[in-house]
Amino acid sequence: MGGGRRRFIQGGQGLLAALILGQACRPQRSGATDRPGVLVIGAGLAGLAAAHSLARANYPVVVLEARDRLGGRTWTSTHWPDLPLDMGASWIHGLRGNPLTALARSGAVDLVTTDYDNDLIYGPSGQPLEAQELAHLARLGDRITTALVAAQGRDPDQSVRAVVQAALDWAALPLADQQRVDFLLNSTLEQEYGGSVSQLSAHWYDDGEAFPGPDALLRGGYQGLVRVLAEGLDIRLQQGVQAVDWSGREVVVTTNQATYRAERVVVSLPLGVLKSGAVEFSPPLPEVKTTAIARLGMGMLNKCYLRFPRVFWPDTVDWLEQISSPPGRWTEWVSLVPSLGQPVLLGFNAADQGREMETWSDGAIVASAMAILQRLFGAQIPEPLDYQISRWQSDRYALGAYSFNALGSTPAMRDHLAQGLAGRLFFAGEATSRQYFGTAHGAYLSGLAVAQQIRQGYR
Ligand SMILES: Cc1cc2nc3c(=O)[nH]c(=O)nc-3n(C[C@H](O)[C@H](O)[C@H](O)COP(=O)(O)OP(=O)(O)OC[C@H]3O[C@@H](n4cnc5c(N)ncnc54)[C@H](O)[C@@H]3O)c2cc1C
Repeated sequence: MGGGRRRFIQGGQGLLAALILGQACRPQRSGATDRPGVLVIGAGLAGLAAAHSLARANYPVVVLEARDRLGGRTWTSTHWPDLPLDMGASWIHGLRGNPLTALARSGAVDLVTTDYDNDLIYGPSGQPLEAQELAHLARLGDRITTALVAAQGRDPDQSVRAVVQAALDWAALPLADQQRVDFLLNSTLEQEYGGSVSQLSAHWYDDGEAFPGPDALLRGGYQGLVRVLAEGLDIRLQQGVQAVDWSGREVVVTTNQATYRAERVVVSLPLGVLKSGAVEFSPPLPEVKTTAIARLGMGMLNKCYLRFPRVFWPDTVDWLEQISSPPGRWTEWVSLVPSLGQPVLLGFNAADQGREMETWSDGAIVASAMAILQRLFGAQIPEPLDYQISRWQSDRYALGAYSFNALGSTPAMRDHLAQGLAGRLFFAGEATSRQYFGTAHGAYLSGLAVAQQIRQGYR
């Protein structure tokens, strides 16, 4: 669990008072401010960024969070006290110009870069690919890119898989090349976007932007950033929001514990939660929004950390990749030796593979990971001392990892999702970010954008 709970979280007391008095709570105005009170639903990066920004501008803000911890899909586990590790977002992607870089600096969070190009790719035989095999893989990669670029200029939209299979004459492609193509599609697209290539829109899957510069892990984990944002805020934990009534001048938010009222409400619920209908809006959200919620995809990425007594893999590379069978199973591994100096491997499973494996027992997941590692490094490798596994699909407050541009969606739908309603209901979260969807910085920036909308509306 994230270790960000400090004195600034006033979990129980406010709630208890409300229940005893039988009254609805609202963000309290002090004499110093006449600004409208704001409720923020969700204490992930988007909600915290909005609340932090508004609180600094003297708005009375209360954050309602369903979990008993902060950070949402950034979650630093302290299960290994000497080695805090991120079960959700791990990297700041692109340090240059990325607002999270400045945030990390302001919180004295140490950043450790890793490099995608510092990698080794293993073939089906379990041996690292030779130069000739790497060149063959690169040629297949070029054919995939050419096919997808061509498809982006052509109607109708198709899934990435349909485009690639047609362009590469799939049925006639040798089995070994099919395996290589599946590897490329998984390692470059499914692991990044979380959506299955059968569902990713060929037109829009990559319709986002990225910050330049290296990627960096946060030593101590993302909780370092969460702490900076949460400091001083009034955050109520274990407040699962069930209903949002925005029919009147004040918005009424009902949780499993209490009723809250405010002039403005920021909804930073994950797309998976919006899709589930777990939170009832009255009046219902307009069709343009419900269409966006239905059509945008919610993707999957799960992590499995294995902690070993010693390093038995090449100790200078960041990434170990393998052409796997079945496709997409344990394709990508990160070694924490170069970055954190620890004998820990982090294996990923994305999209369909991630979703399926999540239903397995811990024992079965670890056994499956170990079978792959034995194929690559020999039967004599040591058993892990311990493991940590994420399950984002069955997490009821996430219901998936992050959003992707699915076949049937368009980037404009993210703008529809982001649009405020009636000057009192506002929307943030990674899925509302057209430029930076699926990322921690996208979530953060969406929170800042909503805070700015509220400030502008007030002025
Ligand atoms: C495995 C994984 C790896 C990732 N890796 C990276 C990475 O390396 N770099 C990167 O930039 N991004 C990464 N991401 C994406 C990034 O974590 C997310 O985009 C970002 O954290 C989303 O923030 P958010 O505020 O939009 O949503 P969330 O963090 O999900 O916040 C929403 C909050 O709402 C709460 N909530 C849900 N339902 C209710 C309810 N009914 N009532 C009240 N509260 C509720 C949730 O508990 C949560 O705290 C990764 C995500 C995952 C899952």
